Amino acid sequence: MNNVFVYCEIEGTTIADVSLELLTKGRKLANQLGCQLEAVVAGSGLEGVESQVLPYGVDKVHVFDAPGLFPYTSLPHSSVLINLFKEEKPQICLMGATVIGRDLGPRVSSALTSGLTADCTSLEIGPHEDKRAGITYENLLYQIRPAFGGNIVATIINPEHRPQMATVREGVMKKEILDANYKGEVVKHDVAKYVSDADYVVKVIDRHVEKAKHNLKGAPIVVAGGYGVGSKENFNLLFELAKELHAEVGASRAAVDAGFCDHDRQIGQTGLTVRPKLYIACGISGQIQHIAGMQDAGIIISINNDENAPINTIADYVINGSVEEVIPKMIKYYKQNSK
Ligand SMILES: Cc1cc2nc3c(=O)[nH]c(=O)nc-3n(C[C@H](O)[C@H](O)[C@H](O)COP(=O)(O)OP(=O)(O)OC[C@H]3O[C@@H](n4cnc5c(N)ncnc54)[C@H](O)[C@@H]3O)c2cc1C
Repeated sequence: MNNVFVYCEIEGTTIADVSLELLTKGRKLANQLGCQLEAVVAGSGLEGVESQVLPYGVDKVHVFDAPGLFPYTSLPHSSVLINLFKEEKPQICLMGATVIGRDLGPRVSSALTSGLTADCTSLEIGPHEDKRAGITYENLLYQIRPAFGGNIVATIINPEHRPQMATVREGVMKKEILDANYKGEVVKHDVAKYVSDADYVVKVIDRHVEKAKHNLKGAPIVVAGGYGVGSKENFNLLFELAKELHAEVGASRAAVDAGFCDHDRQIGQTGLTVRPKLYIACGISGQIQHIAGMQDAGIIISINNDENAPINTIADYVINGSVEEVIPKMIKYYKQNSK
């Protein structure tokens, strides 16, 4: 009762990274609250699936295993969560800000009249004093996210209704195994008690799954280009440097909007969140919406012809110069010195 729940997304029988990241965060929140962490997995052919989630410090795994639960469709998964939450009364529910989470979260929160904050960038626990009502609430979930076009960072709370629900994008939280041998309870539910036959009205007849064209999220080095790169042709210089460094190429939204680079490489608030060991920002000014997607990089190098570019304030090294001049030199000297 009143525990922290994480809805675990699944592809086939593999739990999605975003869910493992949220379990890691959920464990920390549960520790602060002095409660348990519970995971919900719904799919089909889930024998042994608990071994993927327990190491993240999960105290209880709710398994819903039925042929109609994979691939995901809205109604059966909504019914699973709504009916389970009516029984379990979680205080917090987290899910990925993915295509599935964006569909499922609002359905569940509206059925339970609980409220939901989408795309949180941080989650914390703290009190809130409602001075007008003279009430102090303890241990609320601070659902923190950029608001008003990223110009402010808002802390959203939900004092009265439960569960406090939040979605978080992939890569925003860090995935960390707590204990490979962590012991938790596994509860295999009778799906028919939670999902009606009518919920299976939508049948998936065909699925086309495409592999990602790049591994930006997992790349140890990212060479990212902004509007200052100037053209699609100049972006090829970035790809050349990335090839030498075994890196991936990312981009700012301005570069994507200008057609210099594909949208799936956009980094930032409305793109990907990356945490490489090295981030080389080329012709990127460093607006807050971009920084949101790369500020946890280990080392940041900024290449910019404006020495006062905002990104320089968070960069570990600043190269003051034009992309066209600096990148070819980097390629040349890297090739020379790595022979
Ligand atoms: C709701 C919302 C969501 C957003 N989401 C994102 C997001 O996810 N990701 C994102 O990136 N942005 C996002 N933005 C846009 C963001 O506000 C900025 O507009 C964008 O990040 C700017 O990109 P930029 O730094 O490439 O371009 P600019 O701000 O135009 O900066 C270009 C930089 O290049 C430098 N420069 C110019 N020429 C050269 C040269 N030859 N050599 C070296 N340096 C040069 C300039 O000095 C400048 O610093 C969002 C905005 C909003 C409102």
